[in-house]
Amino acid sequence: MTTFAELGLDPKVLSAIADAGYTEPTPIQAGAIPPALQGRDVLGIAQTGTGKTASFVLPMITLLGRGRARARMPRSLVLAPTRELAAQVAENFDTYSKNTKLTKALLIGGVSFKEQDMLIDKGVDVLIATPGRLLDHFERGKLLLTGVQIMVVDEADRMLDMGFIPDIERIFQLTPFTRQTLFFSATMAPEIERVTNTFLSAPEKIEVARRATTAESIEQGVVHYTATRKDMQAKEKRALLRALIDREGEALKNAIIFCNRKTEVDVVAKSLKKYGYDAAPIHGDLDQSQRTRTLAAFRDGSLRLLIASDVAARGLDIPAVSHIFNYDVPSHAEDYVHRIGRTGRAGRLGKALTICVPHDEKWLAAIEALVQKEIPRVESPLKGAATRLRRDRPVRDEAPEGVAAPARAEVMAPASPSPAPVREAQARPPRAESAPRERSERDNRSSRGAHGGRGGRGEPVVGMGDHMPAFLTRSFKPKSETAEETAD
Ligand code: AMP
Repeated sequence: MTTFAELGLDPKVLSAIADAGYTEPTPIQAGAIPPALQGRDVLGIAQTGTGKTASFVLPMITLLGRGRARARMPRSLVLAPTRELAAQVAENFDTYSKNTKLTKALLIGGVSFKEQDMLIDKGVDVLIATPGRLLDHFERGKLLLTGVQIMVVDEADRMLDMGFIPDIERIFQLTPFTRQTLFFSATMAPEIERVTNTFLSAPEKIEVARRATTAESIEQGVVHYTATRKDMQAKEKRALLRALIDREGEALKNAIIFCNRKTEVDVVAKSLKKYGYDAAPIHGDLDQSQRTRTLAAFRDGSLRLLIASDVAARGLDIPAVSHIFNYDVPSHAEDYVHRIGRTGRAGRLGKALTICVPHDEKWLAAIEALVQKEIPRVESPLKGAATRLRRDRPVRDEAPEGVAAPARAEVMAPASPSPAPVREAQARPPRAESAPRERSERDNRSSRGAHGGRGGRGEPVVGMGDHMPAFLTRSFKPKSETAEETAD
Protein backbone atom coordinates (compact mmCIF):
# COMPACT_ATOMS: atom_id res chain seq x y z
CA MET A 1 0.00 0.00 0.00
CA THR A 2 1.39 3.40 -1.03
CA THR A 3 1.76 6.04 1.68
CA PHE A 4 1.50 9.80 1.22
CA ALA A 5 5.19 10.10 2.18
CA GLU A 6 6.15 7.96 -0.83
CA LEU A 7 4.37 10.19 -3.32
CA GLY A 8 6.99 12.94 -3.29
CA LEU A 9 4.85 15.69 -1.74
CA ASP A 10 6.28 18.70 0.10
CA PRO A 11 6.67 17.98 3.86
CA LYS A 12 4.44 21.01 4.58
CA VAL A 13 1.70 19.38 2.54
CA LEU A 14 2.28 16.06 4.28
CA SER A 15 1.79 17.62 7.68
CA ALA A 16 -1.43 19.32 6.54
CA ILE A 17 -2.70 15.96 5.24
CA ALA A 18 -1.86 14.33 8.56
CA ASP A 19 -3.79 17.09 10.34
CA ALA A 20 -6.74 16.44 8.06
CA GLY A 21 -6.68 12.86 9.36
CA TYR A 22 -5.91 11.10 6.08
CA THR A 23 -3.85 8.02 6.64
CA GLU A 24 -3.34 6.77 3.10
CA PRO A 25 -3.89 8.07 -0.42
CA THR A 26 -7.01 7.05 -2.29
CA PRO A 27 -6.46 5.24 -5.64
CA ILE A 28 -6.87 8.43 -7.71
CA GLN A 29 -4.37 10.20 -5.46
CA ALA A 30 -1.86 7.34 -5.63
CA GLY A 31 -2.25 7.30 -9.42
CA ALA A 32 -2.33 11.03 -10.22
CA ILE A 33 0.06 12.64 -7.75
CA PRO A 34 3.39 11.09 -8.92
CA PRO A 35 2.99 11.97 -12.64
CA ALA A 36 1.62 15.42 -11.72
CA LEU A 37 4.73 16.04 -9.60
CA GLN A 38 6.88 15.07 -12.58
CA GLY A 39 5.20 17.84 -14.54
CA ARG A 40 3.23 15.48 -16.75
CA ASP A 41 -0.32 16.02 -17.97
CA VAL A 42 -2.88 13.90 -16.15
CA LEU A 43 -6.24 12.65 -17.33
CA GLY A 44 -8.18 11.45 -14.31
CA ILE A 45 -11.41 9.60 -14.80
CA ALA A 46 -12.94 9.75 -11.38
CA GLN A 47 -16.06 10.87 -9.63
CA THR A 48 -16.67 13.05 -6.63
CA GLY A 49 -16.07 11.12 -3.45
CA THR A 50 -12.92 9.42 -4.70
CA GLY A 51 -10.61 12.09 -3.27
CA LYS A 52 -9.94 13.60 -6.70
CA THR A 53 -9.77 17.20 -5.44
CA ALA A 54 -6.73 16.43 -3.29
CA SER A 55 -5.23 14.50 -6.21
CA PHE A 56 -4.71 17.79 -8.06
CA VAL A 57 -4.51 20.29 -5.18
CA LEU A 58 -1.70 18.46 -3.32
CA PRO A 59 0.75 18.32 -6.26
CA MET A 60 -0.18 21.89 -7.24
CA ILE A 61 0.80 23.18 -3.82
CA THR A 62 4.04 21.20 -3.93
CA LEU A 63 4.94 22.47 -7.42
CA LEU A 64 3.97 26.08 -6.72
CA GLY A 65 6.02 26.12 -3.53
CA ARG A 66 9.04 26.61 -5.75
CA GLY A 67 8.18 30.06 -7.19
CA ARG A 68 6.50 33.39 -6.45
CA ALA A 69 3.25 35.05 -7.52
CA ARG A 70 3.32 38.00 -9.94
CA ALA A 71 0.77 40.79 -10.21
CA ARG A 72 -2.19 39.98 -12.41
CA MET A 73 -0.56 36.79 -13.62
CA PRO A 74 -1.79 33.78 -11.67
CA ARG A 75 0.54 30.83 -11.79
CA SER A 76 -2.14 28.22 -11.79
CA LEU A 77 -5.77 27.98 -12.68
CA VAL A 78 -8.52 25.61 -11.55
CA LEU A 79 -11.76 25.62 -13.53
CA ALA A 80 -14.88 24.18 -11.94
CA PRO A 81 -18.39 24.07 -13.42
CA THR A 82 -20.36 25.57 -10.53
CA ARG A 83 -19.78 28.18 -7.86
CA GLU A 84 -20.20 25.65 -5.09
CA LEU A 85 -17.69 23.31 -6.58
CA ALA A 86 -15.20 26.14 -7.09
CA ALA A 87 -15.74 27.22 -3.47
CA GLN A 88 -15.17 23.66 -2.37
CA VAL A 89 -11.88 23.44 -4.25
CA ALA A 90 -10.89 26.72 -2.57
CA GLU A 91 -11.68 25.24 0.84
CA ASN A 92 -9.58 22.18 0.02
CA PHE A 93 -6.77 24.47 -1.07
CA ASP A 94 -6.91 26.35 2.25
CA THR A 95 -6.80 23.09 4.22
CA TYR A 96 -3.84 21.62 2.38
CA SER A 97 -1.82 24.83 1.96
CA LYS A 98 -2.14 26.03 5.54
CA ASN A 99 1.59 25.56 6.20
CA THR A 100 2.62 27.51 3.09
CA LYS A 101 2.41 31.15 2.04
CA LEU A 102 0.61 30.44 -1.20
CA THR A 103 -2.25 32.76 -2.08
CA LYS A 104 -5.47 32.14 -3.95
CA ALA A 105 -8.42 34.01 -5.42
CA LEU A 106 -11.86 32.61 -6.06
CA LEU A 107 -13.58 34.02 -9.13
CA ILE A 108 -17.23 33.11 -9.05
CA GLY A 109 -20.47 34.87 -9.79
CA GLY A 110 -22.23 36.55 -6.90
CA VAL A 111 -18.98 37.97 -5.47
CA SER A 112 -18.07 41.57 -6.32
CA PHE A 113 -15.56 42.13 -9.11
CA LYS A 114 -13.81 44.79 -7.07
CA GLU A 115 -12.77 42.47 -4.28
CA GLN A 116 -11.61 39.85 -6.72
CA ASP A 117 -9.74 42.42 -8.83
CA MET A 118 -7.80 43.60 -5.80
CA LEU A 119 -6.58 40.09 -5.07
CA ILE A 120 -5.61 39.49 -8.69
CA ASP A 121 -3.79 42.82 -8.85
CA LYS A 122 -1.66 41.83 -5.90
CA GLY A 123 -0.81 38.55 -7.56
CA VAL A 124 -2.09 35.10 -6.70
CA ASP A 125 -0.60 31.65 -6.97
CA VAL A 126 -3.87 29.87 -7.56
CA LEU A 127 -6.94 31.16 -9.30
CA ILE A 128 -10.05 29.06 -8.83
CA ALA A 129 -12.89 30.02 -11.12
CA THR A 130 -15.98 29.13 -13.03
CA PRO A 131 -15.32 29.51 -16.79
CA GLY A 132 -17.79 32.35 -17.44
CA ARG A 133 -16.57 34.47 -14.59
CA LEU A 134 -12.95 33.94 -15.52
CA LEU A 135 -13.61 35.12 -19.08
CA ASP A 136 -15.50 38.16 -17.73
CA HIS A 137 -12.40 39.16 -15.77
CA PHE A 138 -10.17 38.48 -18.73
CA GLU A 139 -12.29 40.59 -21.05
CA ARG A 140 -12.21 43.48 -18.61
CA GLY A 141 -8.45 43.43 -19.07
CA LYS A 142 -7.79 42.69 -15.42
CA LEU A 143 -6.17 39.35 -15.84
CA LEU A 144 -3.35 37.81 -17.83
CA LEU A 145 -3.32 34.08 -18.34
CA THR A 146 0.13 33.93 -19.90
CA GLY A 147 1.72 33.07 -16.55
CA VAL A 148 -0.36 29.95 -16.01
CA GLN A 149 1.93 26.98 -15.50
CA ILE A 150 -0.65 24.51 -14.26
CA MET A 151 -4.23 24.37 -15.43
CA VAL A 152 -6.83 22.09 -13.88
CA VAL A 153 -10.21 21.30 -15.41
CA ASP A 154 -12.47 19.67 -12.84
CA GLU A 155 -15.73 17.85 -13.59
CA ALA A 156 -15.34 18.20 -17.34
CA ASP A 157 -18.41 16.08 -18.04
CA ARG A 158 -20.54 18.54 -16.12
CA MET A 159 -18.90 21.39 -18.04
CA LEU A 160 -20.07 19.63 -21.16
CA ASP A 161 -23.62 19.27 -19.82
CA MET A 162 -23.65 22.96 -18.97
CA GLY A 163 -22.40 24.08 -22.37
CA PHE A 164 -19.01 25.31 -21.09
CA ILE A 165 -16.79 23.40 -23.49
CA PRO A 166 -16.31 26.35 -25.91
CA ASP A 167 -15.30 28.53 -22.92
CA ILE A 168 -12.86 25.86 -21.75
CA GLU A 169 -11.32 25.64 -25.21
CA ARG A 170 -10.95 29.39 -25.31
CA ILE A 171 -9.29 29.46 -21.89
CA PHE A 172 -6.91 26.69 -22.96
CA GLN A 173 -5.89 28.89 -25.89
CA LEU A 174 -5.26 31.88 -23.62
CA THR A 175 -2.80 29.96 -21.48
CA PRO A 176 0.76 29.09 -22.56
CA PHE A 177 1.26 26.07 -24.75
CA THR A 178 3.86 24.82 -22.27
CA ARG A 179 1.48 24.66 -19.32
CA GLN A 180 0.83 21.42 -17.46
CA THR A 181 -2.77 20.22 -17.60
CA LEU A 182 -4.60 18.13 -15.02
CA PHE A 183 -7.98 17.16 -16.41
CA PHE A 184 -10.75 15.36 -14.51
CA SER A 185 -14.01 13.92 -15.69
CA ALA A 186 -16.35 11.23 -14.36
CA THR A 187 -17.01 9.96 -17.89
CA MET A 188 -15.34 10.27 -21.27
CA ALA A 189 -17.98 11.48 -23.69
CA PRO A 190 -16.72 11.85 -27.31
CA GLU A 191 -16.66 15.64 -26.97
CA ILE A 192 -14.49 15.38 -23.86
CA GLU A 193 -12.23 12.92 -25.63
CA ARG A 194 -11.81 15.45 -28.43
CA VAL A 195 -10.88 18.24 -26.01
CA THR A 196 -8.33 16.06 -24.20
CA ASN A 197 -6.82 14.92 -27.51
CA THR A 198 -6.44 18.56 -28.55
CA PHE A 199 -5.15 20.15 -25.37
CA LEU A 200 -3.40 17.46 -23.34
CA SER A 201 0.02 16.22 -24.21
CA ALA A 202 0.74 12.50 -23.71
CA PRO A 203 -1.27 12.45 -20.47
CA GLU A 204 -0.98 9.80 -17.81
CA LYS A 205 -4.45 8.33 -17.74
CA ILE A 206 -5.80 7.17 -14.39
CA GLU A 207 -9.20 5.63 -14.21
CA VAL A 208 -10.58 4.70 -10.84
CA ALA A 209 -13.53 2.42 -10.33
CA ARG A 210 -16.71 4.37 -10.11
CA ARG A 211 -18.42 4.14 -6.79
CA ALA A 212 -20.35 0.93 -6.84
CA THR A 213 -23.95 1.83 -7.31
CA THR A 214 -25.02 -1.45 -5.87
CA ALA A 215 -22.97 -0.77 -2.76
CA GLU A 216 -24.20 -2.83 0.12
CA SER A 217 -24.35 0.33 2.14
CA ILE A 218 -27.03 1.91 -0.07
CA GLU A 219 -30.52 0.51 0.16
CA GLN A 220 -32.41 1.46 -2.99
CA GLY A 221 -36.08 1.45 -3.77
CA VAL A 222 -38.58 2.69 -6.35
CA VAL A 223 -42.11 3.72 -5.56
CA HIS A 224 -44.35 3.53 -8.58
CA TYR A 225 -47.02 6.06 -8.52
CA THR A 226 -49.81 7.08 -10.87
CA ALA A 227 -51.86 10.18 -10.22
CA THR A 228 -55.53 9.79 -9.55
CA ARG A 229 -55.94 12.45 -12.22
CA LYS A 230 -53.32 13.91 -14.49
CA ASP A 231 -53.87 17.43 -13.24
CA MET A 232 -53.42 16.23 -9.66
CA GLN A 233 -50.05 14.63 -10.26
CA ALA A 234 -47.83 17.39 -8.85
CA LYS A 235 -49.90 17.84 -5.73
CA GLU A 236 -50.24 14.15 -5.02
CA LYS A 237 -46.57 13.56 -5.69
CA ARG A 238 -45.70 16.09 -3.04
CA ALA A 239 -48.02 14.31 -0.62
CA LEU A 240 -46.29 11.04 -1.50
CA LEU A 241 -42.90 12.59 -0.82
CA ARG A 242 -44.06 13.75 2.61
CA ALA A 243 -45.40 10.29 3.36
CA LEU A 244 -42.11 8.72 2.29
CA ILE A 245 -40.17 11.10 4.52
CA ASP A 246 -42.49 10.40 7.44
CA ARG A 247 -42.26 6.66 6.94
CA GLU A 248 -38.49 6.77 7.42
CA GLY A 249 -38.98 8.25 10.90
CA GLU A 250 -35.87 8.64 13.04
CA ALA A 251 -33.68 6.81 10.54
CA LEU A 252 -33.86 9.90 8.38
CA LYS A 253 -31.19 12.17 9.77
CA ASN A 254 -30.92 14.37 6.71
CA ALA A 255 -31.77 14.04 3.06
CA ILE A 256 -31.20 15.51 -0.34
CA ILE A 257 -34.31 15.57 -2.48
CA PHE A 258 -33.47 15.77 -6.16
CA CYS A 259 -35.79 17.30 -8.74
CA ASN A 260 -35.16 17.49 -12.48
CA ARG A 261 -36.13 21.14 -12.87
CA LYS A 262 -35.22 24.28 -10.96
CA THR A 263 -38.84 25.40 -10.80
CA GLU A 264 -39.77 22.09 -9.24
CA VAL A 265 -36.97 22.48 -6.67
CA ASP A 266 -38.59 25.72 -5.51
CA VAL A 267 -42.13 24.36 -5.46
CA VAL A 268 -41.17 21.23 -3.53
CA ALA A 269 -39.12 23.20 -0.99
CA LYS A 270 -41.93 25.70 -0.49
CA SER A 271 -44.47 22.94 -0.09
CA LEU A 272 -42.38 21.03 2.47
CA LYS A 273 -41.83 24.21 4.45
CA LYS A 274 -45.53 24.91 4.38
CA TYR A 275 -46.14 21.51 5.92
CA GLY A 276 -43.65 22.21 8.71
CA TYR A 277 -40.61 20.36 7.36
CA ASP A 278 -37.14 21.79 7.79
CA ALA A 279 -36.34 22.27 4.11
CA ALA A 280 -34.52 24.68 1.79
CA PRO A 281 -33.84 24.76 -1.95
CA ILE A 282 -30.55 25.01 -3.80
CA HIS A 283 -30.27 25.67 -7.52
CA GLY A 284 -28.44 27.89 -9.94
CA ASP A 285 -30.92 30.77 -9.95
CA LEU A 286 -30.65 31.51 -6.25
CA ASP A 287 -28.27 34.23 -5.19
CA GLN A 288 -24.85 33.18 -4.01
CA SER A 289 -25.17 34.23 -0.38
CA GLN A 290 -28.37 32.24 -0.04
CA ARG A 291 -26.78 29.18 -1.62
CA THR A 292 -23.76 29.44 0.67
CA ARG A 293 -25.97 29.83 3.76
CA THR A 294 -28.15 26.89 2.79
CA LEU A 295 -25.20 24.63 2.16
CA ALA A 296 -23.49 25.62 5.39
CA ALA A 297 -26.68 24.89 7.32
CA PHE A 298 -27.04 21.51 5.64
CA ARG A 299 -23.41 20.63 6.33
CA ASP A 300 -23.55 21.57 9.99
CA GLY A 301 -26.76 19.65 10.52
CA SER A 302 -29.03 22.60 11.22
CA LEU A 303 -30.98 22.01 7.99
CA ARG A 304 -32.54 18.59 7.53
CA LEU A 305 -33.83 18.54 3.96
CA LEU A 306 -32.00 20.00 0.98
CA ILE A 307 -33.99 20.18 -2.23
CA ALA A 308 -31.59 20.30 -5.14
CA SER A 309 -31.14 20.24 -8.88
CA ASP A 310 -28.43 18.02 -10.33
CA VAL A 311 -26.30 20.93 -11.43
CA ALA A 312 -26.32 22.64 -8.04
CA ALA A 313 -25.58 19.45 -6.17
CA ARG A 314 -22.96 18.06 -8.48
CA GLY A 315 -19.61 17.67 -6.81
CA LEU A 316 -20.74 19.00 -3.45
CA ASP A 317 -19.00 17.24 -0.65
CA ILE A 318 -21.58 16.67 2.01
CA PRO A 319 -20.24 13.99 4.28
CA ALA A 320 -23.16 12.35 6.03
CA VAL A 321 -26.46 12.05 4.23
CA SER A 322 -28.78 9.34 5.47
CA HIS A 323 -31.29 9.56 2.64
CA ILE A 324 -31.66 10.51 -0.99
CA PHE A 325 -35.06 11.02 -2.55
CA ASN A 326 -35.44 11.24 -6.28
CA TYR A 327 -38.60 13.27 -6.54
CA ASP A 328 -38.18 12.77 -10.29
CA VAL A 329 -36.41 9.91 -12.00
CA PRO A 330 -33.34 11.58 -13.53
CA SER A 331 -33.49 11.74 -17.32
CA HIS A 332 -29.77 10.94 -17.59
CA ALA A 333 -29.07 7.55 -16.08
CA GLU A 334 -25.62 8.74 -14.98
CA ASP A 335 -27.24 11.32 -12.74
CA TYR A 336 -28.89 8.54 -10.76
CA VAL A 337 -25.46 7.21 -9.92
CA HIS A 338 -24.27 10.66 -8.89
CA ARG A 339 -27.37 11.32 -6.84
CA ILE A 340 -27.44 8.14 -4.84
CA GLY A 341 -23.65 8.31 -4.37
CA ARG A 342 -24.36 11.08 -1.86
CA THR A 343 -25.51 8.56 0.69
CA GLY A 344 -23.92 5.41 2.07
CA ARG A 345 -20.52 7.08 1.99
CA ALA A 346 -17.52 5.65 3.76
CA GLY A 347 -19.36 2.58 4.95
CA ARG A 348 -22.27 4.51 6.45
CA LEU A 349 -25.70 3.14 5.78
CA GLY A 350 -27.81 5.09 3.36
CA LYS A 351 -31.13 4.82 1.61
CA ALA A 352 -32.13 6.09 -1.82
CA LEU A 353 -35.81 6.19 -2.76
CA THR A 354 -37.07 7.12 -6.20
CA ILE A 355 -40.59 8.17 -7.12
CA CYS A 356 -41.49 6.94 -10.60
CA VAL A 357 -44.56 8.16 -12.48
CA PRO A 358 -45.57 6.42 -15.73
CA HIS A 359 -43.91 9.12 -17.85
CA ASP A 360 -40.55 8.35 -16.18
CA GLU A 361 -40.64 4.57 -16.75
CA LYS A 362 -38.32 4.80 -19.74
CA TRP A 363 -35.72 6.63 -17.67
CA LEU A 364 -35.99 4.08 -14.91
CA ALA A 365 -35.37 1.33 -17.47
CA ALA A 366 -32.24 3.19 -18.66
CA ILE A 367 -30.97 3.45 -15.09
CA GLU A 368 -31.52 -0.23 -14.44
CA ALA A 369 -29.67 -1.02 -17.67
CA LEU A 370 -26.76 1.18 -16.57
CA VAL A 371 -26.46 -0.21 -13.05
CA GLN A 372 -27.28 -3.69 -14.34
CA LYS A 373 -29.63 -4.34 -11.53
CA GLU A 374 -33.31 -4.15 -10.90
CA ILE A 375 -34.04 -1.56 -8.26
CA PRO A 376 -36.44 -3.11 -5.76
CA ARG A 377 -40.01 -1.85 -5.93
CA VAL A 378 -41.31 -0.63 -2.61
CA GLU A 379 -44.89 -0.06 -1.66
CA SER A 380 -46.28 3.44 -1.58
CA PRO A 381 -46.99 4.66 1.94
CA LEU A 382 -49.95 6.51 0.49
CA LYS A 383 -52.16 3.58 -0.38
CA GLY A 384 -54.73 4.39 2.27
CA ALA A 385 -54.39 8.13 1.94
CA ALA A 386 -54.77 7.99 -1.83
CA THR A 387 -58.00 6.09 -1.40
CA ARG A 388 -59.22 8.67 1.06
CA LEU A 389 -58.34 11.40 -1.38
CA ARG A 390 -60.45 9.75 -4.01
CA ARG A 391 -63.37 9.26 -1.72
CA ASP A 392 -63.36 12.94 -0.84
CA ARG A 393 -64.25 13.91 -4.36
CA PRO A 394 -67.86 14.63 -5.20
CA VAL A 395 -68.11 11.86 -7.79
CA ARG A 396 -71.20 10.27 -6.41
CA ASP A 397 -73.05 13.57 -6.42
CA GLU A 398 -72.17 14.17 -10.04
CA ALA A 399 -73.26 10.82 -11.30
CA PRO A 400 -76.47 11.08 -13.24
CA GLU A 401 -79.21 9.01 -11.85
CA GLY A 402 -79.23 6.69 -14.80
CA VAL A 403 -75.80 5.33 -13.99
CA ALA A 404 -76.18 2.58 -11.48
CA ALA A 405 -73.72 2.20 -8.66
CA PRO A 406 -72.65 -1.34 -9.65
CA ALA A 407 -71.36 -0.04 -12.99
CA ARG A 408 -68.90 2.15 -11.13
CA ALA A 409 -67.94 -0.60 -8.76
CA GLU A 410 -67.15 -2.88 -11.67
CA VAL A 411 -64.55 -0.60 -13.14
CA MET A 412 -62.67 -0.20 -9.90
CA ALA A 413 -59.29 -1.84 -9.58
CA PRO A 414 -59.88 -5.14 -7.83
CA ALA A 415 -57.53 -4.36 -4.93
CA SER A 416 -59.11 -1.03 -4.13
CA PRO A 417 -60.52 -1.22 -0.63
CA SER A 418 -63.01 1.61 -1.08
CA PRO A 419 -65.26 2.90 -3.85
CA ALA A 420 -62.95 4.78 -6.20
CA PRO A 421 -64.39 6.72 -9.10
CA VAL A 422 -64.03 5.40 -12.60
CA ARG A 423 -61.44 7.85 -13.89
CA GLU A 424 -59.06 7.08 -11.08
CA ALA A 425 -59.28 3.38 -11.64
CA GLN A 426 -58.32 4.04 -15.23
CA ALA A 427 -55.20 5.85 -14.12
CA ARG A 428 -53.74 2.94 -12.15
CA PRO A 429 -50.07 2.06 -12.73
CA PRO A 430 -49.26 0.17 -15.90
CA ARG A 431 -48.33 -3.45 -15.46
CA ALA A 432 -44.67 -4.35 -15.32
CA GLU A 433 -44.86 -6.54 -18.42
CA SER A 434 -46.14 -3.68 -20.62
CA ALA A 435 -43.71 -2.31 -23.19
CA PRO A 436 -42.79 1.36 -22.54
CA ARG A 437 -43.95 2.42 -26.00
CA GLU A 438 -47.36 0.97 -25.46
CA ARG A 439 -47.52 2.62 -22.13
CA SER A 440 -46.74 6.06 -23.42
CA GLU A 441 -49.34 5.67 -26.11
CA ARG A 442 -51.82 4.73 -23.49
CA ASP A 443 -50.79 7.68 -21.36
CA ASN A 444 -51.50 9.95 -24.29
CA ARG A 445 -54.81 8.35 -24.75
CA SER A 446 -55.85 8.74 -21.15
CA SER A 447 -54.61 12.33 -21.11
CA ARG A 448 -57.11 13.15 -23.81
CA GLY A 449 -59.79 12.53 -21.26
CA ALA A 450 -62.23 10.44 -23.27
CA HIS A 451 -61.28 6.81 -23.13
CA GLY A 452 -63.48 5.39 -25.81
CA GLY A 453 -64.84 2.88 -23.36
CA ARG A 454 -61.38 1.55 -22.53
CA GLY A 455 -59.45 1.72 -19.29
CA GLY A 456 -56.09 3.46 -19.01
CA ARG A 457 -54.48 0.04 -19.24
CA GLY A 458 -55.85 -0.70 -22.69
CA GLU A 459 -58.26 -3.25 -21.29
CA PRO A 460 -61.96 -3.22 -21.98
CA VAL A 461 -63.88 -1.54 -19.20
CA VAL A 462 -66.23 -4.11 -17.87
CA GLY A 463 -69.83 -3.06 -17.81
CA MET A 464 -69.53 0.10 -19.91
CA GLY A 465 -69.34 -1.35 -23.37
CA ASP A 466 -68.26 1.26 -25.89
CA HIS A 467 -70.47 3.89 -24.44
CA MET A 468 -68.86 6.74 -22.50
CA PRO A 469 -71.35 8.49 -20.24
CA ALA A 470 -70.97 12.26 -20.46
CA PHE A 471 -70.27 12.70 -16.74
CA LEU A 472 -67.07 10.73 -17.06
CA THR A 473 -65.56 13.29 -19.38
CA ARG A 474 -66.32 16.15 -17.04
CA SER A 475 -63.59 17.48 -14.76
CA PHE A 476 -64.21 16.87 -11.08
CA LYS A 477 -61.72 19.45 -10.06
CA PRO A 478 -63.25 22.23 -8.01
CA LYS A 479 -61.96 25.72 -8.93
CA SER A 480 -60.21 26.26 -5.59
CA GLU A 481 -57.94 23.26 -6.20
CA THR A 482 -56.21 24.98 -9.10
CA ALA A 483 -55.14 27.84 -6.88
CA GLU A 484 -54.00 25.40 -4.21
CA GLU A 485 -51.98 23.52 -6.76
CA THR A 486 -49.58 26.39 -7.26
CA ALA A 487 -49.51 27.49 -3.66
CA ASP A 488 -49.03 24.01 -2.17
P1 AMP B 1 -13.50 14.57 -3.40
O1 AMP B 1 -13.63 13.34 -4.25
O2 AMP B 1 -12.30 15.36 -3.74
O3 AMP B 1 -14.76 15.38 -3.38
O4 AMP B 1 -13.23 14.09 -1.89
C1 AMP B 1 -14.20 13.42 -1.13
C2 AMP B 1 -13.88 13.44 0.36
O5 AMP B 1 -12.80 12.60 0.66
C3 AMP B 1 -13.52 14.80 0.92
O6 AMP B 1 -14.29 15.01 2.09
C4 AMP B 1 -12.07 14.70 1.31
O7 AMP B 1 -11.79 15.46 2.45
C5 AMP B 1 -11.92 13.22 1.60
N1 AMP B 1 -10.59 12.69 1.31
C6 AMP B 1 -9.77 13.04 0.29
N2 AMP B 1 -8.65 12.31 0.31
C7 AMP B 1 -8.73 11.49 1.38
C8 AMP B 1 -7.87 10.49 1.93
N3 AMP B 1 -6.70 10.18 1.39
N4 AMP B 1 -8.28 9.83 3.03
C9 AMP B 1 -9.49 10.13 3.58
N5 AMP B 1 -10.34 11.05 3.11
C10 AMP B 1 -9.98 11.72 2.01
